[in-house]
Amino acid sequence: MSFDLAARLAARRAENLYRQRPLLESPQGPQVVVDGQPLLAFCNNDYLGLANHPQVIEAWRAGAERWGVGGGASHLVIGHSGPHHALEEALADLTGRPRALLFTTGYMANLGAVTALVGQGDTVLEDRLNHASLLDAGLLSGARFNRYLHNDAASLATRLEKATGNTLVVTDGVFSMDGDIADLPALAREAKAKGAWLMVDDAHGFGPLGANGGGIVEHFGMSMEDVPVLVGTLGKAFGTAGAFVAGSEELIESLIQFARPYIYTTSQPPALACATLKSLELLRSEHWRREHLQTLIRQFRQGAEQIGLELMDSFTPIQPILIGDAARAVRLSQMLRERGLMVTAIRPPTVPAGSARLRVTLTAAHSEAQVQLLLGGLADCFGQLGAEPSHA
Ligand SMILES: *Cc1c(COP(=O)(O)O)cnc(C)c1O
Repeated sequence: MSFDLAARLAARRAENLYRQRPLLESPQGPQVVVDGQPLLAFCNNDYLGLANHPQVIEAWRAGAERWGVGGGASHLVIGHSGPHHALEEALADLTGRPRALLFTTGYMANLGAVTALVGQGDTVLEDRLNHASLLDAGLLSGARFNRYLHNDAASLATRLEKATGNTLVVTDGVFSMDGDIADLPALAREAKAKGAWLMVDDAHGFGPLGANGGGIVEHFGMSMEDVPVLVGTLGKAFGTAGAFVAGSEELIESLIQFARPYIYTTSQPPALACATLKSLELLRSEHWRREHLQTLIRQFRQGAEQIGLELMDSFTPIQPILIGDAARAVRLSQMLRERGLMVTAIRPPTVPAGSARLRVTLTAAHSEAQVQLLLGGLADCFGQLGAEPSHA
């Protein structure tokens, strides 16, 4: 017997699901060079345009001078340094919570939080469109795992009836492939009524949402009692890397004791925390970034509706165009690319079968003229695509 990888890869190709990595040959931003080609891109998650900001770069450089480059050890050994600690305090302040705990990636924050809080005999209930890291965390925890209908508090309620042990309800704040936001008030009401805890992963909400960039919890004006476990990631609107969990003193101390992806990994480079401290300051104070983003979102939605594109129910920077068939989505993405525009096609299994889409993301670094170029390209390519036979 051997692993028949060749057959698996061939099947993946045949289904139009084969993945390739575009090679980025420039810093992140609206104008990039990919595989040797200059492109106007609408696919990163750098929503506030901070990933290549001169002040953030300078903070990183100064941090490396002062603290060196490597974390050197795990947090519990000797890797928890001054900048990590200062960043945790700043994140606690941003979220209005007593404590925040810094993780090396969002994937690890989610694995760590869920597996530390529930295990055998407990229950974890998740939105069926949750990010893969949350679904993996639920499965890994060993708790009874069940998915409720997307953003449907009634569907959650029926599952809560059957829940046993400690029960954790887990949802994305902003759904990463759809751009819609969780109905947190309704989900929190159901969870509280049954003594369950609500955990929100607001990877795409911090920065764009909330008057001060505090994300979906700030947007809805909700308390720590409503949302005891709040996760944010730093690789999206913060423009750097890493993640955090914010909550009570007891929650954070429990994660330090029991969250294996926190304990058994090297801390992130301290200079990275220095960079994030600077981007956090810009995220909170430069309101024009959120306002400009909202202008672009309105402009894009109006223009796309005129073209007859099928948009999703989103007021966030994630503005997917629903295509359906994976081959047609890939074809449209290719046609745009031939015109110098880069928008990624998202296919199953990242999204449900039959719901392939172009995931347009807008950022504060884009201009209205650039959004107009995208709309012009979409109008031409979508018209042409309509006339082509489907390959599926
Ligand atoms: C990107 C993302 C993550 C993972 O965060 P990383 O820091 O990139 O590992 C987790 N949850 C959601 C909803 C995300 O979009």
